[in-house]
Amino acid sequence: MTSALATVVIVGRPNVGKSTLFNRFLGSQVAIVQDEPGVTRDRFERLVEWQGRQFNVVDTGGWMPGGSELDAKVSRQVEAAVRDADLVLFVVDATVGVLDDDQAIAKWLRTSGKEVLVVSNKVDSDKREFDKWEFLSLGLGDPYPVSALHGRKSGDILDEVLIRIPRREGDEVEVAKKKPAYTEVPRIPRVSIVGRPNVGKSTLFNRLVGHDRSVVHDMPGTTRDSIDTVVTTPDGPITFVDTAGMRRRSRVDDSTEYYSFVRALRAVDESDIALLVIDATEGITSQDQRLAERIDASGSPVVVVLNKWEILNADQRDEVDIEIGRKLFFVGDAPVLKMSALTGKGVQKLLPVLQDSIEQYHRRVPTRDVNRVIARAQQQQPAPSGARVLYALQGASDPPTFTLFVNKELPSTYLRYLERAIREGFEFGSTPIKIRVRKRSE
Ligand code: GDP
Ligand code: GDP
Repeated sequence: MTSALATVVIVGRPNVGKSTLFNRFLGSQVAIVQDEPGVTRDRFERLVEWQGRQFNVVDTGGWMPGGSELDAKVSRQVEAAVRDADLVLFVVDATVGVLDDDQAIAKWLRTSGKEVLVVSNKVDSDKREFDKWEFLSLGLGDPYPVSALHGRKSGDILDEVLIRIPRREGDEVEVAKKKPAYTEVPRIPRVSIVGRPNVGKSTLFNRLVGHDRSVVHDMPGTTRDSIDTVVTTPDGPITFVDTAGMRRRSRVDDSTEYYSFVRALRAVDESDIALLVIDATEGITSQDQRLAERIDASGSPVVVVLNKWEILNADQRDEVDIEIGRKLFFVGDAPVLKMSALTGKGVQKLLPVLQDSIEQYHRRVPTRDVNRVIARAQQQQPAPSGARVLYALQGASDPPTFTLFVNKELPSTYLRYLERAIREGFEFGSTPIKIRVRKRSE
């Protein structure tokens, strides 16, 4: 493990948006290091890279003060995580204000002697009233307003984190180290099939794979999070990752559901594209929304499947069409396919759409063109105080990742401006892209 690196721990009571923030950190601008396979970890730890430095971030899941035995166990894990931390991000919900649980956590953090940054989440717009004074009452300094869900200020908060954590040997990311070996080998793209229980994931999976794999899922005591199967398509092979097996575990309590959710998200993190299956007969439920939000926050491209479409009558179909726009707006331009996994109708549209998304994801833009787009953007709007990009290139694909060599640090607002220029200049559409920055002397 990379324990020599600085560690940032995210804490807070349930539902304040810790996991959303965690995913945001991972999704938008970072390199993801896979967890060792087969290890079921209660705390969720990942390597994050920002502005050429790397550190560990730990999502502590739910903090449940004063609860049952399970709660006590979770709390002990949180305590252990905080003990090892260099910085604690204490997330509170700006839409709710300070609750007793927040006060209890604050009290404990004040005695921990740790550096704490209060993150006031769900400040989705400038307009949203944000009561700074209320959070000052936690006695942990100025709260930092963000919207983890919409990415508002999530880059700025990473800047703030870098200022507050100690420098550690080896935390600089070198260009040479950055190229994972597997990019040399043609990689088979991975598609994870995710969705609520009973929406038809296994049925779809079996149809795509061409035979019934469900027996495997029913194996008692199976500890596998997902099952990989390679499917040959006219445009090349695709690995499908089926997470349906998880639903066979008994639902003993909320935390089981929480962890299956976490596992589904891990499958998403480790795949190139998420295939979100929705049961059209139930419309878009809040669980579907939640999953879609998380996938969006993780930065994966997504293809939406409205399954069991054959059961709906014309009116119901219209209704779902309207709901999609209203309730899944954050997946933006993601393709939405209507089908019946059971009868097979419409399933044939899926592979070409996936191949298309995969192509975008793998796309490589010539260095010459990247520099042309960056030069034009800088001409139209130069960065403040003489900062500028000296040279740029696409360092990696999957997703398209651009490295900007700069003479000095660029403000995050300007980085977002450049990201937009790249996105629009090369018509990346709904494909996520990453930007990395390296400082170079002129
Ligand atoms: P956790 O229990 O602290 O990990 O919280 P989650 O990350 O699961 O988030 C709880 C709920 O708050 C989810 O429905 C999120 O979509 C929502 N949420 C998280 N961040 C934001 C935000 O910035 N704005 C809004 N409006 N909702 C958010
Ligand atoms: P999973 O939990 O998401 O893997 O869902 P399953 O694939 O096990 O499907 C749950 C139930 O929905 C099963 O009874 C399937 O036969 C049924 N089902 C799946 N797809 C369709 C479909 O397109 N139409 C209809 N009518 N039923 C479906």
